[in-house]
Amino acid sequence: MNLNELTISKAHAGLKAGDFSAEELTRACLDRIKKRNKDLNAFIEVDEEGALQAARNVEIKTPLSGIPMGIKDIYCVKGWECTAASKILKGFKPPYDATAISKLRDSGTVLLGRTNMDEFACGASTEHSCFGPTKNPHDLARVPGGSSGGSAASVADDMCLGAMGTDTGGSVRQPASLCGCVGLKVTYGRTSRFGVMAMASSWDTISPFAKTTEDAALILQEIAGKDPKDSTTPDKSVPNYTEALTGDVRGLKIGVPKEYFGEGVEEETASKVMEAVRALEKAGAILKEVSLPNMKYAIALYYIAMPAELSANLARYDGIRFGRKPSDTGEDLMDYYRNARTEGFGEEIKRRIMIGTYVLSAGYYDAYYKKAQQVRTLVIRDFDRVFEEVDVLCGPVSPYPAFKLGENLDDPLKMYMADLLTIPASAAGIPGLSVPCGKSSGGLPIGLQIMGRQFDEETVLQVGDAWEKIRG
Ligand code: GLN
Repeated sequence: MNLNELTISKAHAGLKAGDFSAEELTRACLDRIKKRNKDLNAFIEVDEEGALQAARNVEIKTPLSGIPMGIKDIYCVKGWECTAASKILKGFKPPYDATAISKLRDSGTVLLGRTNMDEFACGASTEHSCFGPTKNPHDLARVPGGSSGGSAASVADDMCLGAMGTDTGGSVRQPASLCGCVGLKVTYGRTSRFGVMAMASSWDTISPFAKTTEDAALILQEIAGKDPKDSTTPDKSVPNYTEALTGDVRGLKIGVPKEYFGEGVEEETASKVMEAVRALEKAGAILKEVSLPNMKYAIALYYIAMPAELSANLARYDGIRFGRKPSDTGEDLMDYYRNARTEGFGEEIKRRIMIGTYVLSAGYYDAYYKKAQQVRTLVIRDFDRVFEEVDVLCGPVSPYPAFKLGENLDDPLKMYMADLLTIPASAAGIPGLSVPCGKSSGGLPIGLQIMGRQFDEETVLQVGDAWEKIRG
């Protein structure tokens, strides 16, 4: 076995025992990147020198010490460029680290480089990137999912042992599912968003990818907690996540929302996921069918509320405060702004800015934005109600396995439907885990989604880990 194929927990044991060095581990990842990145386009920049130097100097003090990780190109990393895969930010070098990055550095993590993504995290296929699309390691003709597709593909292809992504409406869980690795969307506020470019501020979460649930728990352990620089992180103690991984689900109540197995969900996906849920039942969990009746409005409310927040957040990219100067500065200030944004933003971003601006404008605010907020409350209440009866919810992550490159590109609404099963948890701010649970007849990975109560990552991880132990 090559070192880059190890899990974080196995690599940590090897590093501690002195079986190999962090430099050897980092070199194994760099070799894999050299071999595979031409095909996958998962990394858009590799900091070979920085990574090797960090590996040479590392002292093994936490489970992440000496562990090479990929970082989505939306995190400010001092010394690196950060572009959110947008032309408008080409050449931008943030002068500071995001909180998650400084925490990873403190734990001794080796930061390998920037991973590809949809522009400003808007997309479900990583095709909306100014660096070109990332390919799915299981089939180069297919998408890795998005928006954190580069992070998902790099972990699934053993280019790194873990990676950071962001999940606003599914951008960690869905690509993890399509690439066949683990993705954990944390509770809104569990991790600090400081220093990560904002997409939709009341939805964004700083969330990790890994090869196993245990590894995801190890990463979360290092990055979770209150940050005075992000007022949405509460002063709530951070539990010991690996202690929750007992492998025991006896007596645990698993809700199976019927909407997650209904319209729009491919039969093979639904049945594979149901097999995993049944296996958990055999291991002693108690299944209960539940319903989230307002979930059918989740996509609609998201594609109103998210663009509203996005358009406000992206207003700062005007070519003066942030963003590149336009090649033609025009006659006056309006020309300047218009040209900077016309040149700098891609099609999907422009579409969302227009939708967002429209739903916030006078006369339409009540009909769209306010209504969407009210419907969000209904979705939250659905979850509150079912979590009075069950400990977690299980269903598929994505309605179908990885689709072909280009397949949904000309049909935004079709692309948005990929988020059908991930957006509800995002609306409610609850944690969700994506764990591989088999393959389609075409050989493509399928993911099981486990959702839990706010700040109850422990139970979500417990169930994911128990499933992995059953699956083997
Ligand atoms: N696919 C969703 C979108 O396009 C989710 C993106 C995300 O979570 N960042 O908005």
